[in-house]
Amino acid sequence: MLEGKKVWITGASSGIGEATARCLAKAGAELVLSARRAERLAVLAAELSATGAKVRVEPVDVSSRAAMQALGEKLEEAGGIDILINNAGTMPISPILAGRVDEWEQMIDVNIKGVLYAIHAVYPGMAKRKDGHIVNISSIAARQTYQSAGVYAGTKHAVRAISDTLRKEAIRYGVRVTDIQPGAVDTELPDSINHDKIREAVKANMYAEGSEILKPSDIANAIFYAITQPAYIDVSELHIRPVIQE
Ligand code: NDP
Repeated sequence: MLEGKKVWITGASSGIGEATARCLAKAGAELVLSARRAERLAVLAAELSATGAKVRVEPVDVSSRAAMQALGEKLEEAGGIDILINNAGTMPISPILAGRVDEWEQMIDVNIKGVLYAIHAVYPGMAKRKDGHIVNISSIAARQTYQSAGVYAGTKHAVRAISDTLRKEAIRYGVRVTDIQPGAVDTELPDSINHDKIREAVKANMYAEGSEILKPSDIANAIFYAITQPAYIDVSELHIRPVIQE
């Protein structure tokens, strides 16, 4: 279903990005996988290549404007990207009074600037070819807020706002935009919380006895749905949560 489509997935070294790589490889997509942990990307690429998938690894820190610009030019020279899965993100949350300014900046750099750098890397080429799809992964935190997650929620509200604006601007260039808003998914994301008390509280809440949260493949399936609709349909937003999550 995605044969010949060139798909760039950021944050492909674990969680949702990794599951999406597996899902889209099975559907015939040609993948470019990015993240900082090159070894993990190499292992995944080897696994997918062994099944016949076309996979390239391009390690990059999405918060580096220069590196993202250079990678964008490289991808364009190689024929361009048809679909961007703009997924890399981090969640070092804490109460605002804790004043962890470096972590606020890290979330803003990765979750907002990184998303914009990836858009900038592919959107002009898509617009020129009048064909493309940009899928941004925001969060349930793009629609509501939680104590200790003010800056994270701020970054995800920003991704949702950027996505909706981009959708309106891009459609005249044949480029579709989707914002995926997952609830709790079983990934390594809570490990990015450095505030011990908050990390333990988040994990206790996510993994409370008897609760069933989403699997990364559930979000990969939602992404697959969004990018395989006929050309006249724009799946603008998908909001997916475990039934136990308010
Ligand atoms: P993971 O921690 O498993 O994955 C995060 C990915 O982002 C990793 O591949 C990581 O790779 C990459 N990443 C982080 N920082 C950078 C960076 N500076 N440069 C490049 N890549 C980076 O978590 P998830 O799979 O859960 O997260 C994926 C997205 O889903 C995020 O945007 C997250 O906010 C969002 N989300 C997750 C939810 C959940 O409950 N898990 C709920 C709602 C949204 P590496 O460390 O190798 O660079």
